[in-house]
Amino acid sequence: MFRRVAIIGGGAAAATLLGELLERQPAQPLHLDWYTGAAAAPARGVAYGTTSDRHLLNVRAASMSMFTGKPRGFLDFVQRDDPAIAGTDFLPRRRYGDYLEAEVARALEHGKAHGHDVNVIPFAIDALVPENDGVTLIHGEESHRADAAVLALGALPPQPLPGVSSAAIESARYVMDPWQLLAGAADLHPPPRKVAVIGLGLTAVDVLLELAAQWPQTEFVAVSRHGLLPEAHLHKAAAPADDSAELIASMHDAPEIHRWLHLLREACSQETDWRPVIDSLRPHTTSLWQELPLEQRARFLRHARWAWERVRHRMPPQVLDSITALERSGQLQRQCGRVQSVELVNEALQLTLVHAGETRTLGADLVIQTVGLDTDVRRTRHRLVQQLQTNAHITADPLGLGAQADATGHLRHGDSSWPNLFAIGSLLRGTLWESTAMPEIRQQARNLADRLLGD
Ligand SMILES: Cc1cc2nc3c(=O)[nH]c(=O)nc-3n(C[C@H](O)[C@H](O)[C@H](O)COP(=O)(O)OP(=O)(O)OC[C@H]3O[C@@H](n4cnc5c(N)ncnc54)[C@H](O)[C@@H]3O)c2cc1C
Repeated sequence: MFRRVAIIGGGAAAATLLGELLERQPAQPLHLDWYTGAAAAPARGVAYGTTSDRHLLNVRAASMSMFTGKPRGFLDFVQRDDPAIAGTDFLPRRRYGDYLEAEVARALEHGKAHGHDVNVIPFAIDALVPENDGVTLIHGEESHRADAAVLALGALPPQPLPGVSSAAIESARYVMDPWQLLAGAADLHPPPRKVAVIGLGLTAVDVLLELAAQWPQTEFVAVSRHGLLPEAHLHKAAAPADDSAELIASMHDAPEIHRWLHLLREACSQETDWRPVIDSLRPHTTSLWQELPLEQRARFLRHARWAWERVRHRMPPQVLDSITALERSGQLQRQCGRVQSVELVNEALQLTLVHAGETRTLGADLVIQTVGLDTDVRRTRHRLVQQLQTNAHITADPLGLGAQADATGHLRHGDSSWPNLFAIGSLLRGTLWESTAMPEIRQQARNLADRLLGD
């Protein structure tokens, strides 16, 4: 058992692990140091720090508990205020942030009452040195020891797409952190006349809905290779297909992307709706991913990732209605194209797009990059991750999907694993593939708590 544990990260993954640890009754009291970084509201992190009611959870309320042992946790929390809320509803992410904060407050109280020593430290860890008998953590001039440390850092800071000029970045017209922009959008006078959004995933949809409401005169163009929005959930929840055993067995038999796509298309064509087939894969995604040879994983990332993300990470139906209304009003246009370059030209930005062998340009006053979570440890500017990588304390996933680890989150260095350095969440994408949403994170938190406490 590790008695003194440092948790690094201010988001939902760190909060869930803290809750799991404090819920147990270990043989001896714990000493937990929770380094929450610069997070204004620890636990909410990036996803649940939004104050906008336009930003909805993309998972139904009944599936959003923080804890595997209390599956109704979030639903019970919201129903206390409003018993009419149903488990199938898609609620504002802001409410989920309220729930996270309430659970953390409860866990801290419970921990104190049971003799645990818990410190919430509002600093980022700048560097970390793992050794066989413990970990040294450094922030600023100070260093601290722990028996074990857990990296719960979320996604890494976004990097500009290749082809974006430094003049474009320095002009501040090229935005890589849309959440920071949204926080100050109401104060921007006058608003931009034309905005281009690169990427068409769930974050792009959130950004478009919020900015279109705040800047009603602004014209928006959203560009992605295929120009397609994420698929939407059905209004009515459908249970995952229960006869998928044959499909899963066939996929295990032939770990090859081309074959899997064929099997999936066939299975979907036999159903009235494809969603239950896709959802039935969720409990098996990690074991399937782990069977894929590296070259097949690379093939998946090159050819099938965009299609998988569209069907797997779906938007609530009411979000689809809002974005469709925006398109019908003419305020939003979608375009297909790969962004080849972004240049600063006469105080505005010019995007060069390539599609079907043709090149064209698009002008915009502001460009917002929303191209998915960055987990590429090899080229990150995240200070701590850079230090760990430079000092060979961690080993990058060869495909840019976080850091190498075993399935319980033990981080690897070279050919061995550290006994006392772990990760949870996005950094484990290369090992688990599905590793960013709450249903996966709560399971990881539970397993990790077992591991740390020697259960
Ligand atoms: C916009 C958005 C919407 C989403 N919606 C859903 C949803 O509806 N349902 C769902 O299940 N999942 C959703 N997700 C997935 C989401 O990633 C997880 O649910 C969860 O929020 C991940 O939490 P995290 O703690 O891993 O990461 P984060 O929330 O990113 O938190 C990481 C924190 O660690 C801090 N940190 C980084 N480095 C350091 C350091 N060196 N020292 C100290 N602190 C540090 C960061 O500042 C940050 O506050 C969404 C994600 C996004 C981005």
